[in-house]
Order: sequence, then C-alpha cells, then structure tokens
Amino acid sequence: MRALTWHGKHDVRVDTVPDPEIINPRDAIIRITSTAICGSDLHLYDGYIPTMKAGDILGHEFMGEVVETGARSTLKKGQRVVVPFVIACGSCYFCGKHQYSACDNSNPADNQDISEELWGHPASGLFGYSHMTGGYPGGQAEYVRVPFSDVGPIVIPDGIDDEKVLFLSDILPTGWMAAENADIEPGDTVAVWGCGPVGLFAVQSAFLMGAARVIAIDHFPNRLALAKKFGAEILNYEDSKVYDALMEMTGGIGPDAVIDAVGLESHGLFADNVLDQIKATAFLGTERPHVLRQAIIACRKGGRVSVPGVYGGFVDKFPMGAFMEKGLTMKTGQTHVQHYLPGLLNAIVEGKIDTTFLISHRMALEDAPHGYDIFKNKQDEVTKVVLKPGLAKAA
Ligand SMILES: [Zn+2]
Ligand SMILES: [Zn+2]
Repeated sequence: MRALTWHGKHDVRVDTVPDPEIINPRDAIIRITSTAICGSDLHLYDGYIPTMKAGDILGHEFMGEVVETGARSTLKKGQRVVVPFVIACGSCYFCGKHQYSACDNSNPADNQDISEELWGHPASGLFGYSHMTGGYPGGQAEYVRVPFSDVGPIVIPDGIDDEKVLFLSDILPTGWMAAENADIEPGDTVAVWGCGPVGLFAVQSAFLMGAARVIAIDHFPNRLALAKKFGAEILNYEDSKVYDALMEMTGGIGPDAVIDAVGLESHGLFADNVLDQIKATAFLGTERPHVLRQAIIACRKGGRVSVPGVYGGFVDKFPMGAFMEKGLTMKTGQTHVQHYLPGLLNAIVEGKIDTTFLISHRMALEDAPHGYDIFKNKQDEVTKVVLKPGLAKAA
C-alpha cells in the first residue's frame, strides 16, 4: 500500500510499504477514506519528538471502511468508522474510569520505559506518534491496523459525510474536553489562547456549555476571523497587551476560566532525538510556557485554568505564587477520546457543532508532503489539511 512515512526533519515521503495484517483477534483493518494532518504532527515533522525511526507511518486523525476483522472484533466489514487517536484496551484500571488516554495496556512494555522515566508512569499507545507511544503505524495511508477495535472506533451512520465526523478522531473531543476542564458555569467569561483547530472547537464548546462571552487570542487574522464567526470577541496579541486588554474587557476582574490551546508549540519538547538528552540538565526549562504564564496571571481570583496544549518536559518560571494566592484550579491531559465520541457524534448529527468550517485544503495522499509544507509555513491560510487516499495526485 501507499503511506506517508517519516525520514527525518522536514523529510516526509509517500512510499510503498507492506499492507497491515491482523495480528491480534481484537484487531480490524480499515481502508482509509479521509485523514487529517494535525498541529501535533508538525512536532514530528520538525524533528522534536524522540524515538522516531525512518520509515514510520504518520497520522492519528483518520476514518474509513472496515475491510477485515479479527475473530474478537465487534466491527463488521463495510462499516464506516472514525478511530480515536488514543489506543485503549477498555478493560484496565484507567479504562474502567473512562480515563482512556491513561490506558496501561496499549503501549507495549518495551516502549514504556521512556515515558515512565520522564513522567513517573508510562504513556498509553497513540497512532503514528513515535515509539515511546507504542510505535503504531498511523493512518496517513491507504490502510491501517486498529488494535482493540472492539473498544475505540465509533460506527458512523449512513448518509453523514466524512468531513462532518473526521475530527471526532482528535481535535473535536480535545476542544470539548478543554472546555469541560474549564468547569464553565452559565454566564462565564472564558479566554482561549490559540485559534488553531483545538482552540476553535474549544470556543464552540464553551458557548454550548453556557459561557456568556468567549475571548479568543491569536495573531493570525484568518484564524481570529473564524473564532469571531462562532461568536467570540477577538484579541490580536500583536496589536494589544493581552493582560491589559483582558482586564479592560472584564472590568478589572479577569476571565472566569482560561484555556491554553497553544502548549509548547514546536519549540523544544525535547532538546533533540538523543534519548540520553532527556535526562540532561540542559533539558530543564526548554518548554516555552509564555501562554501558560500569561493565562495564569490574567485569570480571575478563584478561576480555572484548562490546558489542552501539549507539554512534554519541565516548565520554567511557572507562576506558582499567582496560582496559589489566587486560588486557581488547573486541569489538563491527553484527551479521553472514547469517552466523548457518542455525545459528540450526536451533537454533529443534530447540527449543534459545525466541523467542516475548518477544512481549508483537501488533497491526495500522494500530495501529503506538500500538505505538511504548507500547513507548517502558511498557517494563516492553511487551517486544516485533509488527505484523501482515493484522490488522484495533483498535476
Ligand atoms: Zn491530532
Ligand atoms: Zn486500558
């Protein structure tokens, strides 16, 4: 089959690779019909994530048609499914609590040591996201093997277009959980840093949860315009001082909840790909937590801080004084995608959440390297790239 493979910094290629096969009775093989490039794929593209190997297949946002099932899969051939980016067994201690992104069984033991050493406990398995999260081939390909197919994938009813449901795989539940983690109360004012896909879904979700006002902060005019379309007031941090503007907009009180949908950006998750480097002191303080600091300082006393943005290491100059003295609460985490799928699919079907507005570019899988290039280098106009293995390569 054809698949988008990683070969090093800014070097991704569409190669011919072996077709995936059923390995475990709970597996299914999916023929991909749509797959998206994610902001977090750019961390791989930029070479910031350790334990990548040349030839690894990328992609963790995908959907398609079931073409093969293991003896214990509950899926049926011909069904259309969206697959969560988090791989979860459904039966461990954490899955039992619906904390699927903490699954203890989906990351094979020999890959667990790295994250266990870094974070005290091993990470769960993720599709297409390095060997420290299991080394699973991703879905930017013609076919993919889905482990625990009896737990993760959600079956899509006939008549619903791929583009309406594709983002159930990651960014929609991630934006939703970001708003949920902000414990929004009716009438609240919520400030969202970052109008990328997750931030934009957090804006929509915050309003659905009863926020009276959402203030969206970014510097890309197109992305701010999308936030405005969903009713947010917008703040361009290149034109105004964010703290001063937020105080003026909230009568000096500050937002009730703040959401950091930026995270570490592409700056310094890890110093480089050498594992030993992880332990080196040079690694300390390599995150770029400017947004997190600003959000904590701007948040009202007794307010809530939600962090869907990704961090991997240590944060320098964390304003613990402001956090404690103001009595703030923080919630964060990789998304428990499986937990949110039924409710969010309903919200899409009922027209409560719009997902298709985000897609700026559709292209063939064969053109994926170009997709990565423009998604990285033209962020204002390229809000989301969807790859379709069925499309012919652009001339
Ligand atoms: Zn993603
Ligand atoms: Zn589990």
